Amino acid sequence: MRFDTKLIHAAQPPDPLTGAVNVPVYLSSTFAQSAPNRNKGYVYSRSANPTRTVLESALATLEEGSVGLAFSSGLGALATLLESIPSQARIVADTDLYGGTWRLLEHHRRTFGVRTDYVDLTDLDALRASVAGGTAPTMVYAESPTNPLLRVIDLAAVAKVAHARRATFVVDNTFASPALQRPIPLGADIVLHSTTKYLGGHSDVIGGALVVKSKSRGERLRWLQNAVGAVPSPFDSFLVLRGMHTLGLRMRAHGAGARAATEVLVPSRKVRAVHYPGLASHPQHRVAARQMSGYGGMVSFELTGGLPAARRFLRSLRVFTLAESLGGVESLVDHPASMTHASVPRAEREAHGVTDGLVRLSCGIEDPADLADDLRTALGSV
Ligand SMILES: *Cc1c(COP(=O)(O)O)cnc(C)c1O
Repeated sequence: MRFDTKLIHAAQPPDPLTGAVNVPVYLSSTFAQSAPNRNKGYVYSRSANPTRTVLESALATLEEGSVGLAFSSGLGALATLLESIPSQARIVADTDLYGGTWRLLEHHRRTFGVRTDYVDLTDLDALRASVAGGTAPTMVYAESPTNPLLRVIDLAAVAKVAHARRATFVVDNTFASPALQRPIPLGADIVLHSTTKYLGGHSDVIGGALVVKSKSRGERLRWLQNAVGAVPSPFDSFLVLRGMHTLGLRMRAHGAGARAATEVLVPSRKVRAVHYPGLASHPQHRVAARQMSGYGGMVSFELTGGLPAARRFLRSLRVFTLAESLGGVESLVDHPASMTHASVPRAEREAHGVTDGLVRLSCGIEDPADLADDLRTALGSV
């Protein structure tokens, strides 16, 4: 099956009991047993729930992994993954990370002494130097495209360097979604998602996922998923599945919106830099063209006028809503320095380019001409 067909049919047969074409929402915390430990595969919904099972199998198929695990949030997925890492471990992570991811990695570093180094993973020599010295890393962690600067990591190349030192390569694929990029066939061992974003796609649910390449590692993480208990409800599992059906269609529309946005932003004198992997001027455009089948709906840019310009710009938008999060059908705008990345100290933030003039757009599926008009008007007010 091709990807758009998998979205509808993979691991989602009609319900065997009733023929329902959508998996029922099994609102049951527990399941009857015919004798102690004799059951139909379900015992207690923290361990497994039939609605969640369909979501997990569909996620594994879409990301081309062996085991899919759903969580109550993206950070719930990350926290569970970090439970699998011993305190004497070493993590090498990219410098550009979702703020909440950085916060949790730092918590593990400070509280449990996990050695964590932040390295620019677009610089393969820097990565090689970092993993060659000292303790071999246990885990190499990257987002691609990154949040909020849309840098693109060469996943196949980083996988090779990580595997040469037997490290696990984890990719947060939230920004691309499996519709545009599949890290596991490129060499990743584990894919992480905030299903809150493109997979859910409608800004109506918080969720997360891990998809694991190796079956045995997947089963160990499934044990931790139950032990930790950060699982999604059956209804939340249904909402993510429901949203996923249209992922292919939506990603094409998000991409069209983002292209329209760049056409307004790039020529503007009020904009210093536009970060979008689809632009030929993007430093990793060729890597993106090779490993992605589209460039996605996220665009960030820097206003030359800094914070005052950003404030005026944000106040003038009508179609874009000022809100955290991304990946929903409606266009959202974010001011990373004061919102999503406020937990990162200023010096650290500015050193990686998250300045006060930086604005991040999540282009929705509205008519791209309306997105362009809205941006043009707001730039006019700056
Ligand atoms: C939102 C997000 C997360 C965290 O996911 P939650 O569902 O909010 O817990 C992790 N990584 C990226 C790239 C995100 O955008």
